[in-house]
Amino acid sequence: MMAEPVELPSRLAILPFRNKVLLPGAIVRIRCTSPSSVKLVEQELWQREERGLIGVLPVRDSEAAAVGTLLSQGVGGDPGYGGSKSPTTSSGEQQKQDSKNHQEPIHWHNRGVAARALHLSRGVEKPSGRVTYIVVLEGLCRFSVQDLSARGTYHVARISRLDMTKAEMEQAEQDPDIIALSRQFKATAMELISVLEQKQKTVGRTKVLLETVPVHRLADIFVASFEISFEEQLSMLDSVDLKVRLSKATELVDRHLQSILVAEKITQKVEGQLSKSQKEYLLRQQMRAIKEELGDNDDDEDDVAALERKMQSAGMPPNIWKHAQRELRQLRKMQPQQPGYSSSRVYLELLADLPWQKVSEERELDLRAAKESLDSDHYGLTKVKQRIIEYLAVRKLKPDARGPVLCFVGPPGVGKTSLASSIASALGRKFIRISLGGVKDEADIRGHRRTYIGSMPGRLIDGLKRVGVCNPVMLLDEIDKTGSDVRGDPASALLEVLDPEQNKSFNDHYLNVPFDLSKVIFVATANRVQPIPPPLLDRMEVIELPGYTPEEKLKISTKHLIPRVLDQHGLSTEFLKIPEGMVKLIIQRYTREAGVRNLERNLASLARAAAVRVAEQERFSPAIQLSKGIQPMAASTTALLDTRLAGAGSGSSPSNGEVEMEVIPMDVSGQEISNFDGGSPIVVDETMLEKVLGPPRYDDNEAAERVATPGVSVGLVWTNFGGEVQFVEATTMVGKGELHLTGQLGDVIKESAQIALTWVRARASELEISSTSDKSLLESRDIHIHFPAGAVPKDGPSAGVTLVTSLVSLFSKKKVRADTAMTGEMTLRGLVLPVGGIKDKVLAAHRYGIKRVILPERNLKDLAEVPSNILSGLEILLVKRIEDVLEHAFEGGCPLRKHSKL
Ligand code: ADP
Repeated sequence: MMAEPVELPSRLAILPFRNKVLLPGAIVRIRCTSPSSVKLVEQELWQREERGLIGVLPVRDSEAAAVGTLLSQGVGGDPGYGGSKSPTTSSGEQQKQDSKNHQEPIHWHNRGVAARALHLSRGVEKPSGRVTYIVVLEGLCRFSVQDLSARGTYHVARISRLDMTKAEMEQAEQDPDIIALSRQFKATAMELISVLEQKQKTVGRTKVLLETVPVHRLADIFVASFEISFEEQLSMLDSVDLKVRLSKATELVDRHLQSILVAEKITQKVEGQLSKSQKEYLLRQQMRAIKEELGDNDDDEDDVAALERKMQSAGMPPNIWKHAQRELRQLRKMQPQQPGYSSSRVYLELLADLPWQKVSEERELDLRAAKESLDSDHYGLTKVKQRIIEYLAVRKLKPDARGPVLCFVGPPGVGKTSLASSIASALGRKFIRISLGGVKDEADIRGHRRTYIGSMPGRLIDGLKRVGVCNPVMLLDEIDKTGSDVRGDPASALLEVLDPEQNKSFNDHYLNVPFDLSKVIFVATANRVQPIPPPLLDRMEVIELPGYTPEEKLKISTKHLIPRVLDQHGLSTEFLKIPEGMVKLIIQRYTREAGVRNLERNLASLARAAAVRVAEQERFSPAIQLSKGIQPMAASTTALLDTRLAGAGSGSSPSNGEVEMEVIPMDVSGQEISNFDGGSPIVVDETMLEKVLGPPRYDDNEAAERVATPGVSVGLVWTNFGGEVQFVEATTMVGKGELHLTGQLGDVIKESAQIALTWVRARASELEISSTSDKSLLESRDIHIHFPAGAVPKDGPSAGVTLVTSLVSLFSKKKVRADTAMTGEMTLRGLVLPVGGIKDKVLAAHRYGIKRVILPERNLKDLAEVPSNILSGLEILLVKRIEDVLEHAFEGGCPLRKHSKL
């Protein structure tokens, strides 16, 4: 209703409005039946994702035309648009001649109103199968037509905006003439409202309008709400000048007021003379009008018939159509209150909604454009993008190629989802994401049989219903998180989905008829490869996205995240600046992740904080207020602002509380105001960071503090979230020589702990670990090893070397080096074996500010994947045996060395 000023495009598709005018702020419901307007609605409104704008242009029947020079064959009187109904129309009244058969002259008015669709519904007429639309349009702003040309069956106009912009409007409102006219208009309108109020008591909202809507819009809205002649409507439309419009509107409102008053008098006289049946008739008429207004005027066709029509247009394959009809026949026999009625109905609705044939038309694939769009959406990831382009190229050459399913593997927030959606947009297909995380039940994939109460289709069918086409790009998200248990094996259902031989007739238990999934392009994501069942993995091609270095994150922020976040919050760099240094701080102190998801979230928090401030500032405009507390004046503040501040500061000290800025009159210096706003962006600094994001979550000294006591060592592990630094703590107490392990450990890691302890024990006597050196020391003591972050399950062999280091540190009472982290599996005899995830682990070490990394020698080849700028900041120590590890892990070398013969 109270639409903000809109941006008008330079061209608009034109919907002719016969002998009627849509005014800005008014809402009309139009039934489109002619081929050209149906086409227009289809192309400009229905098929668009975002509802577009169209132009509504009054047309005048020649008959109604004042100067009747042209022959007319149209018959006026259609309440909505009736330009050219086809002669096959069954509705008898208001038949129009088909404009194609008879060259009907159209008198286009040269001014119209841009409108946006608030609601669209599509219907198919029964015997003919003809499509019609009902559109509810809201008028937005006036335009004038520069020229009108045909696009296919409908018209498109080059237009220019007539109504003033918001700024112009605000300026105009200062004009004394306009102030006077507005006052007069409002007074008349108020009078009308109070008369209406006595009659029906439902005008409360209109009253609110009067107080909140700017008067220039009010004029249109009021006039649009009563019946006036076409000529008067046109002249209202032509009243571009605000003064003219206001006085015209006042006149019309006043006339309407008078006519109500007169009618009132008459009805009072007539009342009491009406017979009962007459009253009933009147009430029925009113009811009809109300129903029509609400859009459910199809008295003659009940609910089920509407459903049937929907089913007819769903394009079901013949055998399924038969099945559906059988089901429908049963439904017809049931009473709506009967059990089973609604479930049967819901089922049929699903059948009608499923995209049996509906496809998004695949456009000719332009590989260069695809590459450009991948590049513009994603920083780095060169190899991954290359692979995607290859994948697309294969599709281009052989569209039905049964290639493998791409599976993006990596920690959260590295861009897996957004890459998949880029694939969809490169192919011009719709995109739908199906989350498989935590799916344990086969029914989640395949649905429940309808015999169950509350049964539902599986996630795939549900997704297809939502996306509405049968050839989307479907992302199977977190395919590694599906597990199997007693309730069946979701993985085997997925296998069927991904198998091109079988997915032609995918069987959802709820749907109970086969659905063809072969047109869907599947893409999958996973955090790790390992948990994916091998048969499933076999169908997929794994593309790894290991995570970003801080430098990459910085680039991603400046190139992608910040612009996007600003845009999402309606800001620009004019309002908010996040300097690189601050982004670096967010990366270091607030996020320690492989991806950029939390980074994006934190940037969004800053943008929200800034948006609130900008909105406040706008609200106080023209008396602009700057609250100094939140917005510290940065060095970049313009000279203009400085002088203003100095002026304002003379009264109160600028360092405390709010500084009231002087009022800058809008009309004289509108230019200056925008300069002023643009010149004082909020610049994020450390104070703002802490205020918005809270105290830093991570600090660089963490490692040093943690290893301050002997018995703690620093390991590198691989988790679902990418590489992590993992501390291992060992302690000892009087006991029976038992080993206690805590921290949610898997079997493999427990075994590693046993091996580590055995290795240390085997050397304890020989190497004289403790000064008292008796074996009983180890035998009469329990050892407790803990992996902090107890809530996170841990497993894998790569903590072997870390465990030994921690034990040696414990027994030798020497601290390990805080700047050194390690990973590696160890054999009983002390050989260090290579482990996986080296790149992620090294990146994690770098994120934590670790300087030295101990790695198994045989992992040397994996270092090739680590960006060289990261490597150059790290000392990589390659080891073959555990003794080498110990040598590197302690200040001054292995603490045991002086006793040993190593
Ligand atoms: P995932 O699916 O891997 O968990 P998303 O695709 O949801 O991650 O990515 C999280 C956010 O980070 C998205 O907004 C995405 O656009 C952004 N992003 C991730 N990687 C990049 C990149 N290389 N360049 C630009 N933006 C990225």
